[in-house]
Amino acid sequence: MELTNLSVIKDILTRHGFHFSKSKGQNFLTQAWVPQRIAEDAGVDQSCGVLEIGPGMGPLTQQLCLRAGKVVAVEVDKKLQPVLAETLGEFDNLQIIFDDVLKQDIPSLVREQFGSLRPKACANLPYYITSDILAALLEAKCFETVTVMVQKEVAQRICAKPGTEAYGAFTVFCQYHAVPEILFDVPAGCFIPQPKVTSAVLHLTVRKEPVCPIGDEKLFFRVVRASFANRRKTLVNGLMSAFGQLGKESLLGCITACGLPENVRGENLSIAQFAALADEIGKLLA
Ligand code: SAM
Repeated sequence: MELTNLSVIKDILTRHGFHFSKSKGQNFLTQAWVPQRIAEDAGVDQSCGVLEIGPGMGPLTQQLCLRAGKVVAVEVDKKLQPVLAETLGEFDNLQIIFDDVLKQDIPSLVREQFGSLRPKACANLPYYITSDILAALLEAKCFETVTVMVQKEVAQRICAKPGTEAYGAFTVFCQYHAVPEILFDVPAGCFIPQPKVTSAVLHLTVRKEPVCPIGDEKLFFRVVRASFANRRKTLVNGLMSAFGQLGKESLLGCITACGLPENVRGENLSIAQFAALADEIGKLLA
């Protein structure tokens, strides 16, 4: 079934009385090359178990099912149940869970559903919860790769280099867990209804080893968040917002102990420099 053909989409959705929900981030694909390329570029084959988020009426799911050993798709909108039964009923390597992906215990789900298959995550994400879903997928620490369509601007932020405007706490979070790469852009005209923004497909290769030694992961991310809390402030002033009890002089000591100038801004630090800074702050907190 040609699930990206506009007249097929309209026919199926009308017959099932389905209406798009803006609040659920529903923008369905209308160009066959997009889901084909996502599934291909994600490197999905019979040895893989793929978790898909938000199958919609199933164009990407279909491409994944044609390639993967098993696909588990999580869709929050129960009104899509009869639609998906019609569009994807032929696949016996597919299981659909009608629930909120953010309520799933992803590591257990992957363990139980995929066994010895190589776990991958793929999705055309609902944009209103992109960061929450990406955080959940990366923190699950169980996927080889995560290949997702997101707003182009978000993809650029995730891939940003230190010292650029796009570099922020979420960049550090993603690059700590994975090596991100933008694969290709997807224009707004490839969806129904059309979003207001250009999209991009992002491929994240999850790191098997940490990017650098991190003593205390929780403290590391507290330091990162504080460092970007106010971009107009210097690093020390940002750090004061979270670690004020240590005093400005001690925090300046931590910064210079890492070989950084006192007036440095958080956005100029690499992940390794944030790690060194967190270790210095950790010594004061111990
Ligand atoms: N994969 C389809 C496609 O490419 O045409 C639909 C993509 S659409 C951008 C996002 C999908 O995510 C919608 O089907 C929406 O109902 C679903 N969704 C939204 N919030 C969700 C959540 N919290 N958990 C699971 N699915 C969700």
